[in-house]
Amino acid sequence: MGTPPSRSRLLRRGLRKRCPACGEREIWASWGRPVELCPRCGLRFERIEGHFVGAVGINTIVSFVVLFIVLIVSMILTAPEFELRILLPVNVGVTLAMTTWFMPISKTLWTSFDIMMRPLRPDEVDWSQAGG
Ligand SMILES: [Zn+2]
Repeated sequence: MGTPPSRSRLLRRGLRKRCPACGEREIWASWGRPVELCPRCGLRFERIEGHFVGAVGINTIVSFVVLFIVLIVSMILTAPEFELRILLPVNVGVTLAMTTWFMPISKTLWTSFDIMMRPLRPDEVDWSQAGG
């Protein structure tokens, strides 16, 4: 039987869009939509109803931080005119691209945080495949 993954391993796997429990990378049905169960360890990615609300929260926070940085840099670069016809499309584009790109990471990262808060149950994964 494997041992539960350490917090740092959970975070690394979450940031790399992998199954937090076993590290499997082939967990995506489409962009940002994981399969129901990990094909290797059997982890159900949506551990409870509404599980991915936390992922939306992480995505929102990270995207706002990136938007803030891009906004400040783009305002510095366009000062003193602050050209709205440049600032608006750049910042809207960065926000849309960031939220889309980060969506799958936010889901596996949130599942990692969730496992830290509510550890894996003995019956939740195939422990011969999970852990580390
Ligand atoms: Zn797995």
